[in-house]
Amino acid sequence: MTNETWGSVREELQRTVGTSNFTNWIEPLEFSGFRDGVAVFSVPTSFMGNWVSRNFGEQIKHLLNEAGEAVHRLEFAVAKTATRTAPKKSQGATPAQTQPQAPEVELPGAPLDSRFTFDSFVVGKPNELAHAAAKRVAEGGPVSFNPLFLYGGVGLGKTHLMHAIAQELQSERPDLNVVYLSAEQFMYRFVQALRERKMMDFKELFRSVDVLMVDDVQFIAGKDSTQEEFFHTFNALVDQNKQIIISADRAPGEIKELEDRIKSRLQCGLVVDLHPTDYELRLGILQQKVELYRKQYSGLVLADGVLEFLAHRISTNVRVLEGALTRLFAFASLVGREITLELAQDCLADILRASDRKITIEEIQRKVSEHYNIRLSEMIGPKRVRTIARPRQVAMFLSKQLTSRSLPEIGRRFGGRDHTTVMHGVKRIEELKAHDNQIAEDLELLRRSLEA
Ligand code: ADP
Ligand code: MG
Repeated sequence: MTNETWGSVREELQRTVGTSNFTNWIEPLEFSGFRDGVAVFSVPTSFMGNWVSRNFGEQIKHLLNEAGEAVHRLEFAVAKTATRTAPKKSQGATPAQTQPQAPEVELPGAPLDSRFTFDSFVVGKPNELAHAAAKRVAEGGPVSFNPLFLYGGVGLGKTHLMHAIAQELQSERPDLNVVYLSAEQFMYRFVQALRERKMMDFKELFRSVDVLMVDDVQFIAGKDSTQEEFFHTFNALVDQNKQIIISADRAPGEIKELEDRIKSRLQCGLVVDLHPTDYELRLGILQQKVELYRKQYSGLVLADGVLEFLAHRISTNVRVLEGALTRLFAFASLVGREITLELAQDCLADILRASDRKITIEEIQRKVSEHYNIRLSEMIGPKRVRTIARPRQVAMFLSKQLTSRSLPEIGRRFGGRDHTTVMHGVKRIEELKAHDNQIAEDLELLRRSLEA
């Protein structure tokens, strides 16, 4: 088989597949060799190869055979990415004159941030489950839970984990067609396909994916036709046993204006949440960032206690924490001196003030009373019946966890109780939490609503 035969077959294809298909899929193919009945083409991406093989493979083979070539099989190999500036050295048979420049193929995915890898993800108690689940799906093995649903508040690492999964899959399983995009981009593509009357292409494109990752799915809540289309895409992929990974800012059941059938579908797999960071995790993240920064800028001198101070004071989200550190580094490198606690306090005054909104014991008492349907006066009063004492202990526990108040102080706010009573209450809830699902759930719900 020669380039000439391919040339004539290409012309034939242009007539039969239509202009848009031709420019998108056939034109970028480069005939690169023929041996033992296997015709090899080079393609810019593996996605394209799969697509062409699936949709036009039979037709191409048929036409080649008609043209007198005994082709049994087509093979699509990904061309080594030659940068545009470096002129590609054509080797041997490849004709240098008319190399078609591959058109920009519209892949449905969004670009990945190369910094968001598993290596750079610091694991701590609040995110260990999410991390473990993400690692599992990133192996690309048999699908064991579908979908994987990751949720948690803003800046807790959902996008980071999603990108890490996508990048690990891309390097370990290049045969898989992995598509990552935000729910917003999904909607945008959908609307565009509608407008351009390319719904069939849209459907097929998404249904030819091996691993679909949709970030911030809460975005499609209330957007009816996008939800509808998402639902069908979702089902089609699950039916084919393709892995789906979804993230959202809250649990599936809590996303308002999301159709019930979608909610229940999303709950079918593994739902894991990223808890708000704790002090240790924040410190770990800060230490990692400092190490990275030191590699580029060895002159960084950091006084003892600065990172601890930041981890303690900035508890909102990791993005804010990173922002604070970046600013501190920039400042320090400008003035060329050691980062001391005073410098940090000065330079980050606004951030520190903003994350100073502290949860108060009063708020906790009020929320917990409402939750368990008891009076606020009972919460701080002397009654010791279980129905009152348990909520009181829950409130003490949350006060210990969510405020920086000491045990004696907490005791005082609970009707002048002794600090040992508080300690006992906190311990009791800790124990219960471990094997009483109801309590664990209550705590989670209360914590979320207090931190909102
Ligand atoms: P989300 O999508 O949940 O809003 P992101 O994934 O965008 O949050 O995370 C916000 C920033 O915090 C990113 O720069 C990310 O790298 C960083 N980050 C979050 N969690 C971690 C972690 N456990 N280890 C390292 N960096 C983290
Ligand atoms: Mg995100």
